[in-house]
Amino acid sequence: MNTAAPPVEPHVMSTYARLPITLTHGRGCRVWDSAGREYLDALAGIAVNTLGHAHPRLVRALQEQIGQLIHISNYYHHPWTEPLAAALCERAGLDKVFFCSSGLEANEAALKLARKFGRDKGVERPQIVVYERAFHGRSLATLSATGNPKVQAGFEPLVEGFIRVPINDLEALRAATAGNPNVVAVFFEAIQGEGGVYPLEPDYIAAVRALCDEHDWLLMIDEVQCGMGRTGKWFAHQWAGVRPDVMPLAKGLGSGVPVGAVVAGPRAAHIFQPGNHGTTFGGNPLAMRAGLETIRIMEDEGLLDNAARVGTHLHTQLWAALHGVPGVREIRGKGLMIGIELDRPCGVLMQRCADAGLLLSVTAERVIRLVPPLILSTAEADEIVAKLVPQVRAFLDETAA
Ligand SMILES: *Cc1c(COP(=O)(O)O)cnc(C)c1O
Repeated sequence: MNTAAPPVEPHVMSTYARLPITLTHGRGCRVWDSAGREYLDALAGIAVNTLGHAHPRLVRALQEQIGQLIHISNYYHHPWTEPLAAALCERAGLDKVFFCSSGLEANEAALKLARKFGRDKGVERPQIVVYERAFHGRSLATLSATGNPKVQAGFEPLVEGFIRVPINDLEALRAATAGNPNVVAVFFEAIQGEGGVYPLEPDYIAAVRALCDEHDWLLMIDEVQCGMGRTGKWFAHQWAGVRPDVMPLAKGLGSGVPVGAVVAGPRAAHIFQPGNHGTTFGGNPLAMRAGLETIRIMEDEGLLDNAARVGTHLHTQLWAALHGVPGVREIRGKGLMIGIELDRPCGVLMQRCADAGLLLSVTAERVIRLVPPLILSTAEADEIVAKLVPQVRAFLDETAA
């Protein structure tokens, strides 16, 4: 049991249901709390800490950068924007990047791109296809695109111009858009994250690409959570062998430093002109340095292969231990993005696993989500299984009908 008194933060808005744990430092895939307890981190700040904690090379690069320039505004150039933009374009097979500081900001920019794309060609009330269970952020536009009534409740009226369809159902998409000249874009996560780790099938993604080409719609793929190497390719949609027109990124891009980006191909790269969009923090030297060094380290350390290999190992071990256990519905995901769906709400597992020395999250009420750092070793994967499985089994036994 955790015996530390819960930290009290009377001056902080109560937007989060935090666990009574105060983390003070980390190293690799481990973090420690103020009582000296050690945790294996299978959450990685929600798929953010690509390189784990305090990676020596990232620390050195950021320390050097902080001693030179942290921020200068977008009135001037600095040496680190173009190299990161080029690195992302090269890996995505796309053309140009807009930088910002978070996932919702990247998605907000994507939604503005889609609207302007439509209006530039004469569509006065552009509509964007979005998905059930989708999560795109909590600004007014992105929460309106999100497919979760809990995220929207209390903030109506929502932003208009969205058409919602279920995932992996091409006929539903065709039916929802048939004869509608106002559709300008289709927008989805290659693997839905917050919604419960639901992968879109590669065949479906490829078919939507073809449909977008046929109708002159933008294909916009939210890779904020599943991108940046997590599935074993740079971007999760690359398993489908297609290129999107617009790709928002954030979470893992800066390995903990807030960095967001929208990467665009030829049909979308020239839509924004001076005055159309901007942000004060976006693209600052510290953020760009973090993104660039993250990519370089990922390559030097072979972290894409590691994510694929250790992810498959973790998935296989979890399957061996939990498949067929009453109460376990499905184990799904790709690489180091894994969801274990139970047949009942299981939010209490967050605290119980933390008590057992393992950090993870529960999303969509009943899906245990594992998104560890991409440096995870096979031994650490085995440790996740060893810590998690007894907690899941005990919880299911206790709560059995
Ligand atoms: C987390 C997330 C967002 C929102 O990112 P923030 O940085 O929290 O604004 C958007 N899309 C997806 C797929 C995400 O997982």
